[in-house]
Amino acid sequence: MSEIRQVKPRTEGWTQRKDESGKPLLQFSEVKRGKPPIHLADFTIDQRQERIKELGIPGFRAKQLSTHYFSHYTTDPEEMTDLPKEGRSELVEKVFPTLLTEVKRLQTDKGDTIKFLWRLFDGALVESVLMRYSNRITLCISSQAGCGMNCPFCATGQAGLTRNMSAAEIVDQIVRANKAIQNGELGPKRHDEERVSNIVFMGMGEPLANYKEVMSALRTMVEPQPNGLGMSARHITVSTVGLVPSIKKLADENLPVTFALSLHAPDDELRDELIPVNSKWKVDEAIDAAREYFEKTGRRVSIEYALIKDMNDHKWRAELLGTEAERTRQGLGPREPNSFEPNAGLCLDQLH
Ligand code: SF4
Repeated sequence: MSEIRQVKPRTEGWTQRKDESGKPLLQFSEVKRGKPPIHLADFTIDQRQERIKELGIPGFRAKQLSTHYFSHYTTDPEEMTDLPKEGRSELVEKVFPTLLTEVKRLQTDKGDTIKFLWRLFDGALVESVLMRYSNRITLCISSQAGCGMNCPFCATGQAGLTRNMSAAEIVDQIVRANKAIQNGELGPKRHDEERVSNIVFMGMGEPLANYKEVMSALRTMVEPQPNGLGMSARHITVSTVGLVPSIKKLADENLPVTFALSLHAPDDELRDELIPVNSKWKVDEAIDAAREYFEKTGRRVSIEYALIKDMNDHKWRAELLGTEAERTRQGLGPREPNSFEPNAGLCLDQLH
């Protein structure tokens, strides 16, 4: 019988950072650097009123400003004719500082996919990808500039973590995408109300490593318009490489988003190398946390597994994945019996 070929993750021209014990280095906190400018989308509704009052403006203007941003996707003072002309530009500048500057966009020939490259206030670069499908418009967003999870196959991981994105920087990717759709830049509009319907946190960064800002952004996404984007939580997918304590926290947030675990290997030996966070939380722990998420929220959970030739595509691994899925499925209970599905997912240049 011929030996099964096993290719290990390796990237030419890149040396993985390791800790003193020789394990791939995991970076959970950002190196201290300047904070992004404060923006209306960083605040809860109540905090917004306070912020507006601090600027010497009556609190009710917070709702008008929110309507312009979250319902009309504009930060152009010329379009805000319900605000007094005097001092309008200065107010708008303070409330809606520029967070994302478009550096480049790539668009498919048919025009139904746009990849945006954004520059943040400090020069850090992030990406988002807007995709039109027959029944939905999905935006893949970033939650960190860079990433500290050190996955060897991932261009973002190889660059390390620059910093966490603010809640407003996360939300602004959606508002800018909605503006592009409104302007007809994602091909001809099918109706006037068209906008991003689905979000996947599969751009740059590990969302659960930027927990606080991602939670704040999620609350703004699901808050009904005009105070938020009025999106359905079930159409928002939070994808993680398996930060177990944060998965457990997320399950208690009363935010029934769809959850995805980027597994990519069912055995600890390979996963320790492919997804270094596995050295902290093993395959079984990650899958059990995903199951707990399902049990607490009743929401769909996916296991993502991108096949890589000779690395994770062996028959025995398929069988082990099946066994893991079955083990988990058996513990699911009757609420949504087919919701724990092995499911391949791939976005941008990453497996997560
Ligand atoms: S795959 Fe995801 S978690 Fe891993 S380094 Fe890339 S962005 Fe970070």
